[in-house]
Amino acid sequence: MTPAYVALGSNLGEPAAQLCRAVSALAALPDCTLDKLSSVYSSAALGPGTQPDYLNAVVRLQTQLTPLELLDALQRIEQGQGRVRDTRWGPRTLDLDLLLYGRRTIDTQRLAIPHPRMQQRHFVLYPLCEISGKDLEFPNGATLETYLRQCPAEGLVKTQHQLRADTPTHSKSH
Ligand code: ADP
Ligand code: MG
Repeated sequence: MTPAYVALGSNLGEPAAQLCRAVSALAALPDCTLDKLSSVYSSAALGPGTQPDYLNAVVRLQTQLTPLELLDALQRIEQGQGRVRDTRWGPRTLDLDLLLYGRRTIDTQRLAIPHPRMQQRHFVLYPLCEISGKDLEFPNGATLETYLRQCPAEGLVKTQHQLRADTPTHSKSH
């Protein structure tokens, strides 16, 4: 089993409900165990134009899927929740990003791990720290603490929403 950290984000279609649906879908993935869930955070959108605020969270899976199999699974979940890929960084019902996969480094067009923009994103680093601790090591040997020091939490608000698995749409079978 390899620990894999996944960032969840939504700013359309009842974001809190989208995140709970995504958690259910992640919990139901074959060869994966969902073992940690962060709090839900809100922050202003970074993308083009005026967009609704985002809700974000991070979860940890213990997985036997390969990184690409896991990415495929994440993209199927995004599509299942009505994700339309049009404007880059435009509003979305659900964004699932693979942040870290054990200590692996991957740098292809389809998949880059560690996620290349995560070090600058407070809405990724702070929820990640909640579940991993600040001593989490990146493949380059840097700790999460180093990145947190360079990334102020300003504008990031911890909400009362709970990331819990929704009523499962299907049960996990092996
Ligand atoms: P973003 O998350 O940057 O707003 P998208 O969710 O639309 O953008 O993803 C764009 C592409 O990024 C996807 O087609 C996917 O193949 C690629 N990608 C590369 N690395 C990753 C990663 N670590 N996690 C998720 N997608 C990734
Ligand atoms: Mg994405």
